[in-house]
Amino acid sequence: MLKGIKLRLYPNKLQQDQLEQMFGNDRFVWNQMLAMMNERYQNNKNLPFLGKFKLNYLLKPLKKEYPFLKNSDSSSLQVVNEFLTQSWKNFFQDKSGRTGKPRFHSRKYLKKSYTGKSIIKIAGKRYLKIPNLGYIKTSRTGALQNIKIKRYTVMLEPTGKYYLSLQAEVHEPQKLRLTGREIGIDVGIADLAILSNGLKYPSFDGSYFEKKAKAWQRKYSRRRHLAKLLVLQDKNRKVLCPRSLESFANWQKAQKIKARYQAKAANQRKDYLHKLTTHLVKQYDVIVIEDLKTKNLLQNHHLAKAISNASWRMFRQMLEYKCKWYGKRLIAVDPKNTSRICSECGYNSGAKPLEIREWTCPKCQTKHDRDINAAINILHKAKPTGQGLAMVKS
Ligand SMILES: [Zn+2]
Repeated sequence: MLKGIKLRLYPNKLQQDQLEQMFGNDRFVWNQMLAMMNERYQNNKNLPFLGKFKLNYLLKPLKKEYPFLKNSDSSSLQVVNEFLTQSWKNFFQDKSGRTGKPRFHSRKYLKKSYTGKSIIKIAGKRYLKIPNLGYIKTSRTGALQNIKIKRYTVMLEPTGKYYLSLQAEVHEPQKLRLTGREIGIDVGIADLAILSNGLKYPSFDGSYFEKKAKAWQRKYSRRRHLAKLLVLQDKNRKVLCPRSLESFANWQKAQKIKARYQAKAANQRKDYLHKLTTHLVKQYDVIVIEDLKTKNLLQNHHLAKAISNASWRMFRQMLEYKCKWYGKRLIAVDPKNTSRICSECGYNSGAKPLEIREWTCPKCQTKHDRDINAAINILHKAKPTGQGLAMVKS
């Protein structure tokens, strides 16, 4: 099974400069090759585009002309050619015309990266040896034991942090011991998961970092706007050395800080979902959820709602692959009527407004918690015969 692994990298100043050069080299090769291909295409639209091997052959003279390219892991330049060939292929094969021609890469990209195909070695505790960079400090090397890394990506994210990401072959995880338990789960906004046995797990509260991100977003827009005005002013006054937008550091700093807070909130939310889903998969053999694809997830500009939509999707994805990994079963059922039917007698008392959190069944007089009742109904839907219902009564 392939597993994605992402590690922090802590390059020293020298390595940071070198990385900057390597990111730039990738961009340089992409742009050079693309310009050449564009020319070919302009001259004769019927010429077949060049494959990656032909492009790789051109790397040699290019390196002679531009010696700084030798600072890169040469396999990374070949990967650029691979990507470029693929983009052209997509362009030619998509008859609908929706795929555009590959574009030039600008140096303004916030995310900088390169992908190499050389072999990375573990050089010691928390140290890796990366081609052309040498020994570099990392966050953990435990995850890399006993695997061979053949393709890796080094990147600098907008947050200013460096990462190494790779796809690695890992052994099939052990199946978890069966517990003989099954559960229905309803998802909500205040509580992310409501279980048919009455347990409730709250949604992750990321408001602290979200507020900070929002404040820095505002600062970023204000500062950038101001910088733009000053640039325009210089231009209109025809000053000798007009300032460029890039020469203003403060909006760029705000942009970085904003990205850092956004990443923090997202990471913590993901972490929380990982813990919750692992816990659930360990506890229960069969997990029944609503098929949210059929649930009416309206496009919503309300932040809390947008976030819970995203969380639900991630929650389901995680449950899906973890159940597969650990030998458990996930069932998605049609959510129709789950909040209308009494889980005790099956009477449908119609839609209830969202603010009604508790209600009493008009037929059998059972008092219901809205969400728990829905979770029980979800579980029932997976077992229409009604067998073994006693074990899930809360
Ligand atoms: Zn009832």
